[in-house]
Amino acid sequence: MSVLVIGGSVAGIAVADGLRSQGYQGAVTVVDADPSLPYDKPPLSKHALKEDWDPIKGLLRPEEHYAAKDIELVTGRTAVALDAVRRTVRFDDGSERQADHVVLATGVRARLLPEELMLPGVHAIRTAADSAAVRAALADRPRLVVIGGGFIGAEAASVAAGMGLEVTIVEALPLPFQHLFGADVAEAMAGWHRAAGVRLECGVMVAGIEGAERVERVRLTDGRVLEVDLVLLGLGAVPAVDWLDGSGLDLDNGITCDEDGRTGLPGIWAAGDAATWRNPVTGDHVRVEHWTTAKEQGAAVAHNIARPDEPARGAGPVPYFWSDQHGLRVQFLGTSAGHDATHLVHGSFDEPEFVVLYAREGRIIGALGVAAARHVMKYRTAISAGERIEGLLDPVGEAAGA
Ligand SMILES: Cc1cc2nc3c(=O)[nH]c(=O)nc-3n(C[C@H](O)[C@H](O)[C@H](O)COP(=O)(O)OP(=O)(O)OC[C@H]3O[C@@H](n4cnc5c(N)ncnc54)[C@H](O)[C@@H]3O)c2cc1C
Repeated sequence: MSVLVIGGSVAGIAVADGLRSQGYQGAVTVVDADPSLPYDKPPLSKHALKEDWDPIKGLLRPEEHYAAKDIELVTGRTAVALDAVRRTVRFDDGSERQADHVVLATGVRARLLPEELMLPGVHAIRTAADSAAVRAALADRPRLVVIGGGFIGAEAASVAAGMGLEVTIVEALPLPFQHLFGADVAEAMAGWHRAAGVRLECGVMVAGIEGAERVERVRLTDGRVLEVDLVLLGLGAVPAVDWLDGSGLDLDNGITCDEDGRTGLPGIWAAGDAATWRNPVTGDHVRVEHWTTAKEQGAAVAHNIARPDEPARGAGPVPYFWSDQHGLRVQFLGTSAGHDATHLVHGSFDEPEFVVLYAREGRIIGALGVAAARHVMKYRTAISAGERIEGLLDPVGEAAGA
């Protein structure tokens, strides 16, 4: 009996640990392209950008954990091909490994600009090495331009602004997060940036990145030019699945799986950011790029491999993520996709401490909380059950409903 896990991050380590905690006796091997011990990604755009960051704090498990759990950990080795019929993976050093089960947990990689625009001084953050490079660059007190106002860009901008640096966010939307959270929440979040001295250039795109030996200017589509020493790309991510081309797997927006993590090929499973699991309630295939889902999917796959005679386990029905910006914790349960109404049910946008509910066709689909953990987490059950929104509103909510 053996399990080979490709990708040793949140999902992959959850598979390995889950197998052991479920009593799996066979060989468990985790292989990761990154040379470091497995580490957590969320700090990379937050505390890890500060000078006093100790990388040991970011490890997913202490070094001795793997031997203690009889998990073989191989780092610095990249999988380059999968023979799904033989359940055999080939690596960049020419070696091969075969197993009874292969779990694919290769996550995503940062979306970059075309090569000619990736001048020295243009960075993205996906790995510990990326984060360390940005940390070192921030220490020179650069003028920073963040391209894309999503979570990673907004978090890094808030750290840099906290260090007193000159920071500009360039965002194609009218406001960062407007497409996800609606105009009221987006305006509140933009207010945090402005209050911290971050300049927002919205509704405009980048036309060029220029410089002689390193980045010096960012040219915008409206003709303006920003003088800059450091550029951080926050352009989202793409599933790291190119190496699976030709394997026979369905690779439409990540690795297509059922609701238990099985791909269409026997003994081949997938979990985490690289995987698109079927939602058992809606029937949709959804790829989620959040820490909690990666962990839940990894744990579910471990259970389903270790205990094939028991009913299969899926991931939690309500996705969850958090983000830290300007000292405020943002938490989101469920989804905002396709919402047709928002309701402020706690606090106010100015405080800032608030909870906003997202509804579609009269039923709650999501809840966003800012500095309001206790007030937002209680909506998990209602979201899971798709409860009618009227029963969840208090007088504040009715007044603020959109
Ligand atoms: C900077 C940053 C901040 C984040 N902040 C938050 C947050 O605040 N809240 C939140 O909910 N989520 C956050 N996330 C997202 C969260 O970290 C991810 O959802 C989670 O890491 C996904 O885990 P994963 O194991 O699926 O994939 P990943 O963490 O992407 O790991 C995939 C692993 O596979 C390895 N790999 C890739 N290709 C190969 C190959 N061919 N061969 C071998 N190994 C390979 C990689 O080296 C990597 O270690 C953040 C992500 C980043 C990058």
